[in-house]
Amino acid sequence: MSKFEDKYYLFANWKMYLDLAESVNLATALKKEEAGFADKVKMVLFPSALAMNEVAKVMRGAVTAVGAQNVHWVDKGGYTGEVSAPMCAAAGSQYALVGHSERRHLFHETNHEVRQKMQAILEAGLTPVLCVGETKEERVAGKTDEVIETQLRSAFHELSWPAEKGLIVAYEPVWAIGTGEACDPNEAERLHALMKKMLNELAPGTLPILLYGGSVRPENVFDYLKQPDINGVLVGGAATKLESFMSILSNIK
Ligand code: PEP
Repeated sequence: MSKFEDKYYLFANWKMYLDLAESVNLATALKKEEAGFADKVKMVLFPSALAMNEVAKVMRGAVTAVGAQNVHWVDKGGYTGEVSAPMCAAAGSQYALVGHSERRHLFHETNHEVRQKMQAILEAGLTPVLCVGETKEERVAGKTDEVIETQLRSAFHELSWPAEKGLIVAYEPVWAIGTGEACDPNEAERLHALMKKMLNELAPGTLPILLYGGSVRPENVFDYLKQPDINGVLVGGAATKLESFMSILSNIK
């Protein structure tokens, strides 16, 4: 069991599942429950860009924070449909996901773009939550470690990490996301240990917070949290409904 600042991390990626009203309703319900878990769990919600500001308003004065699912690397300009890191900060976000596999694979986001986003997120004063992970084909070909190493090295390429900034990386095997096929917890631990070693080299002096993501459910959440190098979980589908969200929280507690 691994904890940092004596808390487990539960990051909830709502993807494009919840509209504005649904996001506000779920955030409001979670805020009501917050006193029951805030001493044990550090929670960050990642609503759609459309709902971010309203969810941040709901969470005003709460321990639970809000983050962006994605940002563009330029601050302002002619980039139709995009939202920048400073805009997310102004709308109440403190964190930003970067390199989520759905961005990498559905929207063809490259390692180079991930690196640009890392910088933009840091410059806007947000904390990046870098996601890395291999596809099924890469795993079958024995390339898992190589893929993780390449994604980490490119994301940190010539990036100086501010000493005061939390360093958060999520291992999210692409084949485990939204599929119900969660990664074996021992294998997830092996990769977290590998990432920890690499991060000591890429961002020396930092204390990385490492999350596992990929089909986390109330039944398996603690199998991950009891691993020595896993500090928390990044949850998609199971964090979009109050009932499964609360079951995850009570299993963490
Ligand atoms: C995710 O989107 O980051 C994720 C882990 O999704 P799910 O929990 O649905 O697999």
